[in-house]
Amino acid sequence: MNKTRKAALHNLGCKVNAYETEAMRQMLEEAGYEIVPFAPGADVYVINTCTVTNIADRKSRQMLHRARKMNPQAVVVAAGCYVQTAQNPVEDDPMIDIVLGNNCKKDLIRALAEFDEARGSEKIDINHTKEYEQLFVSRTQEHTRAYIKVQDGCNQFCSYCIIPYARGRVRSRAMDDVQREVQALASNGCQEVVLTGIHLSSYGTDLGTSLLELIQMVHETEGISRIRLGSLEPGIITEAFAQTLAGLPKLCPHFHLSLQSGCTQTLIRMNRRYTADEFREKCRILRSHFTDPAITTDVIVGFPGETQEEFEETKAFLEELCLYETHIFKYSKRHGTRAAAMPDQIAEQIKSERSESLIALGEENRRRFEQLHAGRQKEVLFEEKQQINGAQYFIGYTKEYMKAAVPADEDYENVRLFGRLGREIDAHVFLLERESEG
Ligand code: SF4
Repeated sequence: MNKTRKAALHNLGCKVNAYETEAMRQMLEEAGYEIVPFAPGADVYVINTCTVTNIADRKSRQMLHRARKMNPQAVVVAAGCYVQTAQNPVEDDPMIDIVLGNNCKKDLIRALAEFDEARGSEKIDINHTKEYEQLFVSRTQEHTRAYIKVQDGCNQFCSYCIIPYARGRVRSRAMDDVQREVQALASNGCQEVVLTGIHLSSYGTDLGTSLLELIQMVHETEGISRIRLGSLEPGIITEAFAQTLAGLPKLCPHFHLSLQSGCTQTLIRMNRRYTADEFREKCRILRSHFTDPAITTDVIVGFPGETQEEFEETKAFLEELCLYETHIFKYSKRHGTRAAAMPDQIAEQIKSERSESLIALGEENRRRFEQLHAGRQKEVLFEEKQQINGAQYFIGYTKEYMKAAVPADEDYENVRLFGRLGREIDAHVFLLERESEG
């Protein structure tokens, strides 16, 4: 009898990567592999790599080498964005047996079979196709919330970003395909879906449909009680878009709008397609259709040529907008992008100072947002048990993505409860004072 082969996976990077890793995990399971932790003892190691920053590149290389070290006889598969863009081709790396470019993750099982046949004599390299890659996930390890990839690629070419080179042009997933996946997830008990993509706002531009239509379709799915959206391009927010979303009760009032800079001159150099004023207007629109929605954002500090005045402009802008969460990134030079060749690259020390300053401001803004919502009635979807100050709690999220807790006197995993957001029992975790079960 054949021994069951053991496979271990490791994911790096964004939610789209996480979705793809989950899809590969399910493919391996269906092909008869036993999924084991990323530790010594596996026969196959799959690393879904990332290239968004230099640190991501480094971590990708480290994980590939760690896999080889854990079992020198194992098959090591390098998949994803780092593989696609690495300057020293991973094809030449003796640590790696199979190279799976983006759009080729669906071919994992075939590549493993081919490698077995050719074992020892050649490296398998599958790369470079253009159509939307068909991957499917019917359940998630978390049970409660599922990230659904609906789109790949980006046509924007922001001057700092390597992603269009790693992921290619915009491709959208067919709506009925998304629908089938959402239905499968719902029938496996998943209540919340998060629609994700590399450039989600472009969804449907290649299919003659739109993100709004997709959201409306997902909203119809029985069993799904929450829809959350991945990162949105500010340009998609119009009065009509926000008004339609506000009419969908399952839609979470939690919007991630990537700002990157609050200074219009910097935005122009970044090749972002909006001004600071336009971004402000998008926040106003959302706030006029939703009651204190959670608006979160990303900001890059130390972009080439960012003067102290430009940085101060961004800081003042963030103070004024008072967003829920601000993720700060220090600019990371990516070879092959326009920004990498720009003059006036900023010293690491200055990047760090600017980053610390905005992280502190982000924390203040987050407090202000949380205080606004404390004491209000909320629905919380609970996910997992956690120990806080020696006691057991179930932890969940409001629709705004604020963390709330109830004592773990029963099993509340995947249960919705309603109540008032009470005192803070841990940093950013609020006690839910219950009324009834959902
Ligand atoms: S929109 Fe800009 S930052 Fe986002 S993936 Fe596309 S090029 Fe990169």
